Amino acid sequence: MCVETVFLNGEYVKRSDAKVDIEDRGYQFGDGIYEVIRVYNGEVFTMDEHMERLYQSAEKMKITIPYELKEISSIVFKLMKDNHLKDGIVYMQVSRGISQRQHHFPAEEVPASLVAYTKEVPRPEKQMKEGVTAMLCEDIRWLRCDIKSLNLLGNLLAKEEAASRGHFEAIQHRGETVTEGSSSNAFIVKDGTILTHPATNLILNGITRRVIKELADQNGMPFVEKTFTVDELLSAEEIFIASTTSEVMPVVKVDDVTIGQGVPGPITSKLQALFTGRIKEDCKVQVV
Ligand SMILES: *Cc1c(COP(=O)(O)O)cnc(C)c1O
Repeated sequence: MCVETVFLNGEYVKRSDAKVDIEDRGYQFGDGIYEVIRVYNGEVFTMDEHMERLYQSAEKMKITIPYELKEISSIVFKLMKDNHLKDGIVYMQVSRGISQRQHHFPAEEVPASLVAYTKEVPRPEKQMKEGVTAMLCEDIRWLRCDIKSLNLLGNLLAKEEAASRGHFEAIQHRGETVTEGSSSNAFIVKDGTILTHPATNLILNGITRRVIKELADQNGMPFVEKTFTVDELLSAEEIFIASTTSEVMPVVKVDDVTIGQGVPGPITSKLQALFTGRIKEDCKVQVV
């Protein structure tokens, strides 16, 4: 197996040499933020949007990223090149740095820690074609879901329950209102209109979500950012979820309820085709 290079606190090191301090606040508290960026055909997809969100998440957490955007971009490109990344992801996280354990923030001089690495990840072609199943669960997360924080305990509990029951995703709701998946945004089609939760503090405003909105708008497909209920979800014509790695993923069953005909619906399929077109354009890739 080839030796992967990772970036850890200012240095490029072998994966096996990348060791984190036990008093890194990311490790002790989940006190940090992250991004997952998709790479197709050796080209980064929606890089600017992810970078912008990384800095926005940091700002909301009062973390100062000790690198310029240009520097982080060149770290991403160097890792992709060294690791010969073709189709996969770049993961990067910034934690509040290393300091003696205490809840309040360390002194300003303590620099934030940056970790970045790459991973080969294929497109989930089969699941995108056939659709996946999901379960419903109460959204027990905190009230700043707009931050892409390392602290994912609520998301993990939801995903674990879904996975243990053989589902691809847990679609969360606060009371009657559907919020989002544990690691994806949720959409329904109702009376031909695509609905998704508005980008408030209760959801993470996905980059994939934004691309989908743009594609819908450009192609005359009705798209509204408006909350919908669990009942509306269960009686929807179509459901799909979206994320960097899942792209536009049809949901054909929720718990015991079959959605539509139990196969990906026409609006979901059209969005998938448009999304693939966008990848092709942006990443100069020949994809099916
Ligand atoms: C990352 C994430 C998403 C999807 O965002 P993308 O930018 O499209 O990958 C949705 N919900 C949660 C909770 C997430 O962490």
